[in-house]
Amino acid sequence: MKNIRQIFLILKLCFIIAIQQIYSCSLIVEGDEYIKFSGDFRKLVCSNLADIEEFFELKKGSTKGVVKVVKDSDYFLRYRAPSWSNAFFVSGVILIPYSTYQSKNLLRAVRHELTHLVIYKNFGPTVPEWLDEGLALYLESTDDNEYLIKFFELWRNNPKRPSLTRLTSGMSALPQREAMQAYGVSYYAVRFLINQGYKNPILSYLRNSKLKFTPQDIERALLSVDKLK
Ligand SMILES: [Zn+2]
Repeated sequence: MKNIRQIFLILKLCFIIAIQQIYSCSLIVEGDEYIKFSGDFRKLVCSNLADIEEFFELKKGSTKGVVKVVKDSDYFLRYRAPSWSNAFFVSGVILIPYSTYQSKNLLRAVRHELTHLVIYKNFGPTVPEWLDEGLALYLESTDDNEYLIKFFELWRNNPKRPSLTRLTSGMSALPQREAMQAYGVSYYAVRFLINQGYKNPILSYLRNSKLKFTPQDIERALLSVDKLK
């Protein structure tokens, strides 16, 4: 009987350690002085960080950074976040306005910005913006980002479409209409590459080797297929 109790205790301990590993990470998760949030938010952030780190074949829970929930007025005025954004990543800090924190889009927003954080902290600041943005959109959710197809089609039919080469940097400086098209093509470029089996070449490129394809190759492929897989 005593042995059974000991085995039970050991199992319970293992379970607690496993749960702690899923939910613990090196991120600082905080609200500003006006905002209180539940401990569940930290669990949500850490478990999704682990998921994204796994995609990039990184050690789970190792990426450092700050996730900060702030008042909406501070988000736009003090931190100067873009007016159309619902969360924002800037040099190691993820800012989440309180309205996003309370919305049903919180999980998507957290996963999107965590992807930017993981890329920035582990692979540096020079990753082409279309790849960075496309990966963030791809990893936002397991659902397809179908709302982006119309922006991708606008990009495809636009004779003056911004090329993927141009989208290497300066995406955030585009006017909003073009920015949405840039988001659309970035997402479909990444989804297309991953569906074609190019996840490993993307990972080795991020780890500093040469890209096996040029932005022009990807663009040509995207313009020639009838239906995106
Ligand atoms: Zn983004």
